[in-house]
Amino acid sequence: MALESHNKQHQLHFLLVPFLSPGHLIPMVDIARLLVNHGAFVTIITTPLNTTRVKVLIDTVNVSKLRIQVVQFEIPVLKFGLPEGCESLELVPSRALIRNFVVAFSKLQTPIEELIEKKKKIESTPISCILADKFNHWMEDVALKFQIPRLIFDGSSCMNHLLLHNLFKSKVYENVQESKPIVVPNLPHRIELTKSQLPLELNPEAQEFRDLNEKIRASEESAYGVVINSFDELELEYVKEYNKVKGNRVWCIGPVSLSYNNNDHVGQRGNKSKIDIDSCMKFLDSWPPKSVVYVCLGSLNNLALAQFQELAMALESCNFPFIWVMKEDDATREELTKKWLLESEFEERTKERGLIIHGWAPQVLIFSHDAIGVFLTHCGWNSTLEAICGGVPMITWPMFGDQFFNEKLVVQILCIGEKLGNEIAIPLGKQENYGANIKRETIVEAIEKVIGDGENKEERRESVRRLAELAKKSMELGGSSYVNMKMLLEDNLVVQERSNNEDFVWQSFDYPGDTLL
Ligand code: UDP
Repeated sequence: MALESHNKQHQLHFLLVPFLSPGHLIPMVDIARLLVNHGAFVTIITTPLNTTRVKVLIDTVNVSKLRIQVVQFEIPVLKFGLPEGCESLELVPSRALIRNFVVAFSKLQTPIEELIEKKKKIESTPISCILADKFNHWMEDVALKFQIPRLIFDGSSCMNHLLLHNLFKSKVYENVQESKPIVVPNLPHRIELTKSQLPLELNPEAQEFRDLNEKIRASEESAYGVVINSFDELELEYVKEYNKVKGNRVWCIGPVSLSYNNNDHVGQRGNKSKIDIDSCMKFLDSWPPKSVVYVCLGSLNNLALAQFQELAMALESCNFPFIWVMKEDDATREELTKKWLLESEFEERTKERGLIIHGWAPQVLIFSHDAIGVFLTHCGWNSTLEAICGGVPMITWPMFGDQFFNEKLVVQILCIGEKLGNEIAIPLGKQENYGANIKRETIVEAIEKVIGDGENKEERRESVRRLAELAKKSMELGGSSYVNMKMLLEDNLVVQERSNNEDFVWQSFDYPGDTLL
């Protein structure tokens, strides 16, 4: 059969329903771009604020392909006690309101069902597959209602999924003291964690999230498969083990941040940069290779004043050039920090070798610059992968969620990072309780180890450089992630065809459009 007519008959249309937080939305938009590149249609659900964040990138795809449709709905935030415009997790004003935010978003179920119904009636390619964030558990009912296969995505690694699964099944964390180490059972490596480092979903004390966690877990179990932003070569043993758990329906299709080959587009990924990109690049151009410390603690973390000061003093005393990304909230919501920044004249004193970005930084672009020597990170999975792709070793400072698991991968298994030694997870929204756990001397010592005179400096750098190469290869034609994406599409076509025609026999074929956007 000619490729063109084959494609017309077997056209896939993915409905993407991201969770509204930068660490979940950004990779989902990248996945939309990849799906389109592999010949599928995509409809992505968003909200007015998030549309402004992602539209520029989606438009760059549509200029050439016109295959991604953005459908935006208003979330009833006011009804749930949230402030107007609170359309992304980092804007939720307090921990007490996080649950309300998740529930408010679930109110999109009816409009999404109406959308699927409408597309079924009027479009030649109705929705054939749902890719929903794990937190949007209510998409399970939507998929069941329309009998559409549902895949889940949550922006984390295979290792995270496997650890959560094994911990939950074994319950080894129950009746154990907070500070006592637990060995996670049935893993390729010996991984020890304390109960106080475990994510909220395994913390029996997190009452307010208990019912939500149960629904999320149930909808995860019933999903058709799992899409992961990772690549096989990075965590092969975990990919294999997790595939056993999920009946071979796990597809690693990343690192999705490598789906760009245009620096202008990379610079706009996720949000509008708060710094002029040229001046950021000029700053980096002015420093020798591998000399700059890049500090960014993700899109959700706010440091308490005492901890913020320790970090500032560490950067000032270590004598290396640095870029420090401060969340806008550090300078606005947190009055004490704002006052201290002004009165201490920290920015003025360090301006010769320090660049502070107040708000969104073009992170992936920054990693592409050879001057970056080390990344001080909270170990968010996206940031971890992006640093690996840039060949940048890390200093790890996990705070909550899967971040302690990611630290294990970076420091213990891949040997591409130094840890600061944080022992206790601070649940999202409780950062006001975060004292100066990590002292300035510890931070300075870690920086010295990685870009100063550290013993294993070269080995660490060589390991991450090798991984960066493997990451790039995995996304190229014939690479593992490229092939996995093809297999994911073929699998879903098979499901689609089987539901239409019981006698259907699948024949594999090549997809058009292998160029990166
Ligand atoms: N990010 C960015 N600029 C910023 C802050 C964050 O580009 O100033 C991006 C970063 O590149 C990553 C995402 O936001 O893709 C954060 O996701 P991650 O999983 O690392 O952490 P989270 O923010 O979810 O804790």
